[in-house]
Amino acid sequence: MLAQLKTTRFDRPLTYRVPDDMALLIGDVVRVPLGPREVFAYVVSEMRSGGEQPDTLKSIARKAQTPRAFDAAGLTLARWMADAYVCSLGEAIAAIVLGGALPRAIDRFVPHAQRPVIENVPGVAERLIRFIWDDQHEGFALESFLRHPETRRIGDRKTVLAQLGILVRSGALTRSRSFNGARVSDLLVRMLSPGATPIAGKKAEALVAFVTERADVRRSEAVLAGYSDSVIRRAIACGALVETQRALHIERSGHSRLPSFIPTHEQRSAIETIGGLLDRRVFGQALVHGITGSGKTFVYLAAIAKVIAEGARAIVLVPEISLTPQTARRFEEAFGERVAVLHSALSDRERFEAWQAAARGEIAVVVGARSAIFAPLADVRLIVIDEAHETSYKQDSVPRYHAVDVARERMRLLGGVVVLGSATPGLEDYARARAGRYPLVRLRERATAMPLPRTHIIDMGREFGAGNRRLFSTPLLAAIDQRLARNEKTVLFVNRRGTSRFLLCRACGHVPECARCAVSLTVHRGEEVLRCHYCDAQAPIPRTCTACASDTLKEFGIGTERVASELARLYPTARVIRMDSDTTTRVGDHARLLDRFVAEGDVLVGTQMVAKGLDFPQVTLVGAIAADLDLHVADFRAAERTFGLIAQVCGRSGRAQAGEAFIQTYSPDHPAIRFAAAHDYDGFAEGELVERRALDWPPYMRLVYVGVIGGDRAAVEATMGRYAALMHGDDRWQVLGPAPYPIARLNNEWRFRLALKSRDIDVLRTALRERVVTAARREKATRLVINVDP
Ligand code: ADP
Ligand code: ZN
Ligand code: ZN
Repeated sequence: MLAQLKTTRFDRPLTYRVPDDMALLIGDVVRVPLGPREVFAYVVSEMRSGGEQPDTLKSIARKAQTPRAFDAAGLTLARWMADAYVCSLGEAIAAIVLGGALPRAIDRFVPHAQRPVIENVPGVAERLIRFIWDDQHEGFALESFLRHPETRRIGDRKTVLAQLGILVRSGALTRSRSFNGARVSDLLVRMLSPGATPIAGKKAEALVAFVTERADVRRSEAVLAGYSDSVIRRAIACGALVETQRALHIERSGHSRLPSFIPTHEQRSAIETIGGLLDRRVFGQALVHGITGSGKTFVYLAAIAKVIAEGARAIVLVPEISLTPQTARRFEEAFGERVAVLHSALSDRERFEAWQAAARGEIAVVVGARSAIFAPLADVRLIVIDEAHETSYKQDSVPRYHAVDVARERMRLLGGVVVLGSATPGLEDYARARAGRYPLVRLRERATAMPLPRTHIIDMGREFGAGNRRLFSTPLLAAIDQRLARNEKTVLFVNRRGTSRFLLCRACGHVPECARCAVSLTVHRGEEVLRCHYCDAQAPIPRTCTACASDTLKEFGIGTERVASELARLYPTARVIRMDSDTTTRVGDHARLLDRFVAEGDVLVGTQMVAKGLDFPQVTLVGAIAADLDLHVADFRAAERTFGLIAQVCGRSGRAQAGEAFIQTYSPDHPAIRFAAAHDYDGFAEGELVERRALDWPPYMRLVYVGVIGGDRAAVEATMGRYAALMHGDDRWQVLGPAPYPIARLNNEWRFRLALKSRDIDVLRTALRERVVTAARREKATRLVINVDP
């Protein structure tokens, strides 16, 4: 038995006596005594009988009222993860069950009839007391209270929690704790259909039209399409829409409705290759390297249809559902109700139910982001990973797993097939396929028979020399003019993460920085604030320099906001839509902005969000405003990422009619730029791989970062030094550093790291576990972060 163990301190499973009348399976959830408390635990081994049992062995208290959290295959996968990513088994299990099956504690607070006096208490406490005793006097559940907009206005989570603690200790609030049973029910989906009553309001009318057009839709689809929950509720309340609950019935082998077009020659041969792998019924994988617009999705659909027809199941991973609403829709169209799309618009309950339905075998295809790789489908025979090069497949908190590697392991255990798809495959995967480890399937032509866009590299140094100090080069402006005149659409890409607008004092060179992080603050002219893009802290824009008091502060750098406002100035009548993390804060915002762009937009300005997956026939011009912003950062993947981004963003252009792409850069001769403009992935990969080999970077070496993080800089550096000493002087691996992280301070914490490179990752992992992980147990002032294959 393993108690519900989430920290490295408790990595060993604990053994309990099983009561005579209890039958347990691996993955069952039980309540067990642990010290003075009773906790939830997962069963992680078969029951054993006989043998010597010490009298001190405690008994399992009872079986929890929840479905089984994982099966034996899930446990094997968790063990593999704990080993591969140097984390504890408890941490790996937590990732697999996603809280989906574990009952969650619900903390309830009930205020006493007498309101506490509010003299001499801090403002936060006063507002909190007023809110609770005026509005929540019947009691409240902690999580929904914390999510309440009023609570969020009062203070951040930490502050509010601290104040609630004070109120509990003073006796003004009583806390009680219960557990939601999380019982399985049938999978119920909430459906919307048109009602009889008309409704006023533009939003509400659009919503009703949306529902009417489709006869009936899932409520979550409407949310994903950009309609807010409050509009939906209002429409239901007044009778304009009717909400019903419907159980999902999934026949085992219904018909799939694939798109009706005839597959291209290349698509057909890709489908055949994958089909051949599937027929072998052993582990296999394939890399589908298909240019943008080559119709990779159709290949996935066909492969999945085959798997379903044979009664097996499939998982499809996409980078982020809300960013690629089009892709998710294609799977729903093809497989209807046998598909569960795990997107962020689902409520916790809907997510839980989808998970359980998957476990019961009622779902044939799960489409979702990274964590959908753990969907508890039985008999998965195919895992498709779209845009497999995307960094979002790597989780950056514990356990730091890579979904592609988890997919491989899962299919290795079950004898299934992994299909990686990309226009710009990760070099690791490409090198392996080139070396013959698995088939490399090429789609070199666009499915629509349109050529890739004609590209132009614009040397911005030249433009500057010729007196053009604007954001837009002369040729790009001419191209935009032309599109506006012809009523075609333009996408402008600004990689704001590299550099955005910051303030610089021209008198003393001072740049306002975040007080908590080692980064400069970004200017947001819309709200007139400086904001930290890492911790969200904000401050008013100063009029004078805080260092030398002169009034020579000037804005530098490029950001989406600046590009959009500059465009608005140059083209007052053009309809410009901006898409970045500021304009897409809510679920459905992406879909809403994209729909607006299709319906009435001229220019879409955005960050990486606009570079990926969009398939809009009206777009005939793409511009990368500053293509090289990220090219010179100190990261061995900088060139690969820049190449990929440019190739992807160019791929948005000319999908249905001839298109163009302009790449503005100060590094016109850099291979990443040159090869991207030439649509030559192989050329780029070849040169880049030679460099990687020469410099001992992946894929020729495995890389592990060992980081130390903490509030006290001296402690962090001292601890880091000790870990470095533990790892130095062994010729089975190379040690680089220690050095500060690229962002040396984040959220008031200092961060240093060591890079370790080895050809034998197992040797390295073992050494890390024996030396560093062990040593870290004694460290109180700092945290250890191990990141394998970052
Ligand atoms: P990718 O994911 O490779 O960039 P998509 O799957 O988005 O490409 O396909 C690009 C476009 O081509 C889509 O609009 C799709 O419907 C269309 N398409 C795909 N295959 C075919 C085909 N065989 N014949 C005609 N159109 C196709
Ligand atoms: Zn100054
Ligand atoms: Zn910050």
